[in-house]
Amino acid sequence: MKRLGWTSVGAGVLIAVATGGVSFAQQGAPQPPTRVISKIRGDLYKFQNNQHNSWFLVTSEGVIVGDPINAEAATWLKNEIAQRFKVPVRYLVYSHYHWDHARGARVFDDTAELVGHANMAAEIKDAVANIQAGVTRGLDKNKDGKIERSEAQGGTAQAFDDLDTNRDGAIDGAEISGDVRPPESTYTDRRTITLGGKRVELIHPGPNHSADGTIVYFPAERVVFGVDWINVRATAGNLVTPAPLDQWLRSLKLVEALDFDLVAPGHGNIGTKADMTDQVQYFEELIKGVSAGIAAGRTVEQLQASNLLEKYSWWPGFAQGRNANIAAAYQQLSAGSR
Ligand SMILES: [Zn+2]
Ligand SMILES: [Zn+2]
Repeated sequence: MKRLGWTSVGAGVLIAVATGGVSFAQQGAPQPPTRVISKIRGDLYKFQNNQHNSWFLVTSEGVIVGDPINAEAATWLKNEIAQRFKVPVRYLVYSHYHWDHARGARVFDDTAELVGHANMAAEIKDAVANIQAGVTRGLDKNKDGKIERSEAQGGTAQAFDDLDTNRDGAIDGAEISGDVRPPESTYTDRRTITLGGKRVELIHPGPNHSADGTIVYFPAERVVFGVDWINVRATAGNLVTPAPLDQWLRSLKLVEALDFDLVAPGHGNIGTKADMTDQVQYFEELIKGVSAGIAAGRTVEQLQASNLLEKYSWWPGFAQGRNANIAAAYQQLSAGSR
């Protein structure tokens, strides 16, 4: 990997970029990772590893980092922090237990306390034991307890070779979630981490995308960070989870009610408070529109062909995401009305 070091890209934004040579792409081999560190506000930085975002906050007494993403990404980040800021990482705060955000925290464990929600350890255990639990729910079509290459989709397909550690052409729960280390200290509703005069608030939103979610709120920087259920100018992702839609809506409203200017999601670009309000309204209109459709005896296909949520059609990936959201909401809300 070639490291290009710290570069200034416009108004006070410091970035560090890691890229390999183009020859990888030319040979059709996997692309080297894109890793970028950029300032969000004050001493709060965004860490991007390909499609995944994390964060870190620098203080005089050490650094607080967010999701490790994976061991390789965490190792890169650890070196960048050490070189640039010359203070140890004191805390690591998990957003939730899913493998694509939470692997590799062991890299920071020499100096950092790993912090997560009280439900996280049980969620990891469940995901290791049962491929039908967690983020891989529904992928194991032939129900053999593993995800074969042909069954893998999305992020699981992209990371297949990385996850298939024993190279048997299938990945099981231990291969997917085995490198997700449980938190060393937990909280239930709220927790404040104070370091070097700076403050990070952890807030549990209740069950939504998982049962162990954490909203990370930076009151001085006026920034809020959340992963997979907090989106900016994007539809709601996979709604086929155990949590009822009204719980999702409740958690989005909890975020909206915080006093902040910027919302930093685990995927995609940073947005404003207005983007968070849009996300809340999208959810409200989804629930209302689909409920009304069910009451009127309309089918999923009819609702997908209607102009429901059309005002968000300028969001990237809208058509596919919206149709999936309508189908998931229809399934859940019609099951509830039976
Ligand atoms: Zn997730
Ligand atoms: Zn994600």
